[in-house]
Amino acid sequence: MSRPIAVGSIFIECNHFGGTPANLETFRRSELLYDDEVREINDGVIGGMLHQLQAAGRSVAPLLVASACPSGPLTAECYTELKTQLLARLEQSLPVEGVLLGLHGAAAAENAGDLEGDLLAAVRQMVGPSTPIVATLDLHAHLTATMVSAADALLAWETYPHRDAWETGQRGTQALIDILQGTLQPTMAVAKVPVMVSAIHGGTEQPGPFAAIMQRAKAWERSGQVYSAGAILVHPYLDLAEMGGGGIVITNNDMDRAVELASQLAAEYWDWRFELEPELLTPQAAIEAGLDVAGQVLLVETADCCGGGAAGDSIASLRALLNAQGSPSGVVTIVDPDAAAACHQVGIGSEVRLKLGHQVDTHWGTPLEVTGRVCNLTDGQFQYRGGIWDGRSGAMGPAAVIQTAQTTIAIASHPTYEWCGEQLASLDIDTHDTKFVVVKNPMNYHMVWPTAKAFVLDPPGPPPATLRHLPFQQLSRPFFPLDLDIENLQPVVHRGQERPSDSPAGETS
Ligand SMILES: [Zn+2]
Repeated sequence: MSRPIAVGSIFIECNHFGGTPANLETFRRSELLYDDEVREINDGVIGGMLHQLQAAGRSVAPLLVASACPSGPLTAECYTELKTQLLARLEQSLPVEGVLLGLHGAAAAENAGDLEGDLLAAVRQMVGPSTPIVATLDLHAHLTATMVSAADALLAWETYPHRDAWETGQRGTQALIDILQGTLQPTMAVAKVPVMVSAIHGGTEQPGPFAAIMQRAKAWERSGQVYSAGAILVHPYLDLAEMGGGGIVITNNDMDRAVELASQLAAEYWDWRFELEPELLTPQAAIEAGLDVAGQVLLVETADCCGGGAAGDSIASLRALLNAQGSPSGVVTIVDPDAAAACHQVGIGSEVRLKLGHQVDTHWGTPLEVTGRVCNLTDGQFQYRGGIWDGRSGAMGPAAVIQTAQTTIAIASHPTYEWCGEQLASLDIDTHDTKFVVVKNPMNYHMVWPTAKAFVLDPPGPPPATLRHLPFQQLSRPFFPLDLDIENLQPVVHRGQERPSDSPAGETS
């Protein structure tokens, strides 16, 4: 009987400039499963992995699966505990035929800047050089030399908005099976250029610069030139050396070709850099411009995107809306546990006076005094319909809705990833007739309000729409957009280790 495939996951995207640190409670609130609980997963990237393994008749050694909404870095205690638990289960499962990990690629801990590199290296050390390790990643990964040399194959999402977690789990699993069957000897290369841009123009589903690069990579896959290829738009809110976007290519035993094609993707990424940088307005200017627009208007405050690691507690757009001429109608979401608790204390129908915003992450502004009437209270539970956490429940913690003048304010206690308007729906907030809707994500809002006019805003925050102003310490110049051109630019290239293939599957004792 063949040995099992170990399956595990530590999945989170981190922000070095703000938000709140992630601890074990952050993961418990979202997803923290051990051992046989992992076998029950039937959605997302791990669901795709398990399904594919079952179809191939492979047995599974479940490790642990931990995922959470983006945040600040993991506390040292949290990462040490998750890593220790994952490695302990892997050690108990040895010998394994291979290892499958569902990772993000842009996680960081207080004690490991490159969390995925640290974890992959530890797993490699434990299983030895000839046991294949395959990991899946978000296409917003920060791909490091350590990650590329520790894994045999890294395969990233193909879509943004992210719709293909399940399929990526399947693709990663198939790559591992192909390695074990001896039909794939992976030669992997990453090439990246120092383009630091937000995800505003990073969609893969519409005409656009990032979509063009991704389409080229996928055309190589379809034509059989490569085993796997993908474009990478690095999550730019880490502060680490050698960050950049470009491409990752896996060929079948042809490293030179992998390097050449990955470098082509990186060169193309550099050529698109100006198209990747968004145009920005102040909240006030966007509201003035929006009043001249016939229909609904979105104020895109991505600088406070929980899905980019922010606390979600900015009131920059809210302040501008309340100060706007003519009191236009608006909807805003704010994370503020004290304000939510105050609303729960007074109850539905009561008037409440709140100090609101910038109380979780205090770096980016000052609170606003708001008086309003409490019109809904919930426990903050909701269910995702699609995306990375399709079918899973989300937890805002105690949540409230207050109405002040023409503005509806949704108040949550914890940050949650915005996918398709699930939070607002759970609070019975109908935005159909609202003039201004504040959205705190760079892309997913297209799915909820496809015809609304969107203005991207420039307030400060840890995941801002432009990278011109973040105080990087580890990332050194030159990089775009601070440097518009770089003389003799060569992409940073990471080559995977070329490991001699082990004996084919099933022949090992
Ligand atoms: Zn992503």
